[in-house]
Amino acid sequence: MKNLTVLISGASIAGPALAHWLARYGCTVTVVERAPGVRPGGQAVDFKGATHRTVLRRMGILDDVLARQTGGTDQTIINAEGRAQAVIPGEFTGGEIEIHRGDLAQLLHERTAPHCEYVFGDTITSLTETADGVDVTFARAAPRRFDLVVGADGIHSNVRRLAFGPEHDYVQHLGHYYALAELGEEVADGDAVMYNEPGRMAAVGGPKASAFFVFASPELDYDRTDVERQRTLVAGAYRGAGWRVPELIAKVPEAREFYLDALARVTIDHYSRGRVVLLGDAAYGNTLGGFGTGLAIVGAYVLAGELLAADGDHRAAFARYEEQFRGYAKISQRASAGPFLAPPSRLRIKLRDWTFKSRFLLRLMLKATDNFATDIKLKDYAPGS
Ligand SMILES: Cc1cc2nc3c(=O)[nH]c(=O)nc-3n(C[C@H](O)[C@H](O)[C@H](O)COP(=O)(O)OP(=O)(O)OC[C@H]3O[C@@H](n4cnc5c(N)ncnc54)[C@H](O)[C@@H]3O)c2cc1C
Repeated sequence: MKNLTVLISGASIAGPALAHWLARYGCTVTVVERAPGVRPGGQAVDFKGATHRTVLRRMGILDDVLARQTGGTDQTIINAEGRAQAVIPGEFTGGEIEIHRGDLAQLLHERTAPHCEYVFGDTITSLTETADGVDVTFARAAPRRFDLVVGADGIHSNVRRLAFGPEHDYVQHLGHYYALAELGEEVADGDAVMYNEPGRMAAVGGPKASAFFVFASPELDYDRTDVERQRTLVAGAYRGAGWRVPELIAKVPEAREFYLDALARVTIDHYSRGRVVLLGDAAYGNTLGGFGTGLAIVGAYVLAGELLAADGDHRAAFARYEEQFRGYAKISQRASAGPFLAPPSRLRIKLRDWTFKSRFLLRLMLKATDNFATDIKLKDYAPGS
């Protein structure tokens, strides 16, 4: 595919994973990322089962991922007095291999940077498809033409908005919000603990984040760039809460890093339109569903592999990518982490805790996640490469 030029929007997980394969298959790859560099942070993300392992091994990064893994941490569910109610085992929250999202993004960038062009601090402003390419304008860089454009720019994808239409046509609010706040080590120096009241959860400690909040809420109207307003929204959502929540919320205004977003799901009829295709959360995102990173890595493998198999014929390749992947990505259309993390009533909190006291139910849940993660027959697109 020597003559194929591909522009990828987004340099988190899906974008660099695709860049890895396309560069290996001979394409000329450019990755544009809105942030000024590889974005650090986020919680730990995870891989589950043989399919994820196989793709990481074929990428040649399995050992590096294993070397950086967190090792997983049990999380204790506590009541308002701090007494343990149940333990969520690390293997449930952290899959088989758990790694900090920022470490994985950094690793993928290091591996791909020598073989493709990264443009940080810029974003696509328009896409115009012609018979033999896509004319792209950028906020900062000069206009350029590419053969193909890939939207790997997350659940609020810019490429999806430009090529497919407004976000509200494709992104469904799932009734909860989550916030991550970097409150310092003194706040999170103990074991990983999680506290619930109906419709709200607060957690500290462990590899996930220094403080992590999930609360039920109808869709809120706020500016996604106005972080001060978002801090106020979170404080409002936890008014009157027990345990250490007042102490944590009091520190939110000074949090070194703070991030708020809705739990949301992407549903789209087709992953591609002409020469533009979506990958990862942009196509099948489901916030905190626990499958996003695995789907991104396997999706990149299949999309690149199908382009190779079709010798760069994007029509054939995009159709085959979608045909194979839609079934595998079905988990993203089912689960919502909100009612699990912040159950709506005291009874539902008790029932959730109870499932973790039963080894049998836990085994069933782990088996189910393994089944979803391995439910695709991987092709070997470039044997021996
Ligand atoms: C900072 C951050 C923290 C995260 N934390 C968690 C977490 O704690 N737990 C979890 O399960 N998942 C988290 N995720 C999501 C997780 O990375 C994804 O679900 C999964 O890995 C699939 O990744 P993706 O590459 O498709 O999308 P994402 O990881 O969302 O990456 C999208 C990338 O596109 C970039 N981008 C967005 N808009 C534009 C634009 N207009 N132009 C160019 N680039 C753009 C973003 O800056 C980002 O780098 C986080 C993502 C990010 C970016």
